[in-house]
Amino acid sequence: MPQTLQALSRLIFPVILLTLAWYLLSEVHILDASNRALLGYVPYVLAAIAAALSLQFNRSRLAASSVLLACVFWLIQNFLQSSLSGPQAYYVYVSLSLLVPLNIALLALLPERGLWNHFGFLYLLITPAFCAYAYWQFQTRPDALQNLSDLWQIKSIEGYILSVGSTILFGIALGICLFSLGVRNNESEAMLALCLASCYVTLGWLQVDMMSTIMFSIASAGVIIGVFRSSHEMAYRDELTGLQGRRSLNERFRGLGKRYCVAMLDIDHFKKLNDSHGHDVGDEVLKLVAKRLSKIGGGSTTYRYGGEEFCAVFPQRDIEDCVPYLEEVREEIANYRITIRDKSARPTSQHESTGRRRGQASKGASVRVTISIGLAEKTDPSQSAEDVLKVADKALYKSKQGGRNRLSY
Ligand code: GH3
Ligand code: MG
Ligand code: MG
Repeated sequence: MPQTLQALSRLIFPVILLTLAWYLLSEVHILDASNRALLGYVPYVLAAIAAALSLQFNRSRLAASSVLLACVFWLIQNFLQSSLSGPQAYYVYVSLSLLVPLNIALLALLPERGLWNHFGFLYLLITPAFCAYAYWQFQTRPDALQNLSDLWQIKSIEGYILSVGSTILFGIALGICLFSLGVRNNESEAMLALCLASCYVTLGWLQVDMMSTIMFSIASAGVIIGVFRSSHEMAYRDELTGLQGRRSLNERFRGLGKRYCVAMLDIDHFKKLNDSHGHDVGDEVLKLVAKRLSKIGGGSTTYRYGGEEFCAVFPQRDIEDCVPYLEEVREEIANYRITIRDKSARPTSQHESTGRRRGQASKGASVRVTISIGLAEKTDPSQSAEDVLKVADKALYKSKQGGRNRLSY
């Protein structure tokens, strides 16, 4: 699946949760007062669970969004339950309508750093710092937000009360979340978009019965799902290449049918490339090769087996079916000149590298790599997938012995 499509598919859970929120909002009229009072604790409990899980799984931005949800919900419950025309309620509402989109956009732009370091922990302080700043401003200039231009004034159009300016800010913040989601393709951005949408709907239609309780419960539930999904992904997906890793391959092996092929693919002389151009260039090359290997075709899936080795699984295929796809990818990689951003290129005879000497910035320098492939098919019903992989590995060894940049089976 192309990355953008895969990134967009991460919005499925937020959309399901928002639909659920919409349904729950239409059903809250059946609740009596004691149920409502009890439900008022749910957003805090869920935000606490979300924060604890984010801490456990080292997800700084999701932990920070749990803090945001708890703080904003507390402010709504304690200051925004009466008319917004009072100076304090007005100040809190307008502050939230400005700071929430800013805060979430900031979290969407910041890199994931984990929590157990200075930077990661600082993320948790963003919302409290925003609140402290707003509180300090209120103490010194309580009417500061009263005289804002019309753009920032609360309106009421059929129950929708956010100002035009805040609506635009929420729109920009959503754009930033979606952009980050497209670029980074990870779960945190999708859940940040959900938090943003929940805050937007709550602040936009604040008077709707139980709005904040339901929207903030849903948002925290989303953060919890996000933590689980991202840690599941961490276990199954290789971070450098974005391909699925060994654990996924082992699971795939359990579900393969009676007829399939396994190919082992290994970059040739990769150690030399690392030695001559540095590990960072090695990583870049690995990513590019992995990208091409993710599109071998023939119904195959490619996994990073480890290091510079990959494994492609072709279900329902025999060797003759697979050979053209593998030959095509082998040739394409061999003919592909990879431009590198290598500041300390040291050209060697083993790897072509154009026009640079040691120590010179090598904008425009390029390398070529080749891959060797071993292919095997399941021939015997008693053979396990691991057995087939061993045969493919032997064939790969044959390719290496035969001079590399070739396919054997
Ligand atoms: P051959 O043609 O026989 O496969 O030679 P080779 O040098 O590719 O194989 P070898 O197994 O000797 O070395 C593999 C090298 O791959 C060693 C290691 O430094 C490098 N490598 C493994 N994983 C990574 C990685 O994630 N990034 C980078 N940059 N290098 C890696
Ligand atoms: Mg190798
Ligand atoms: Mg190897």
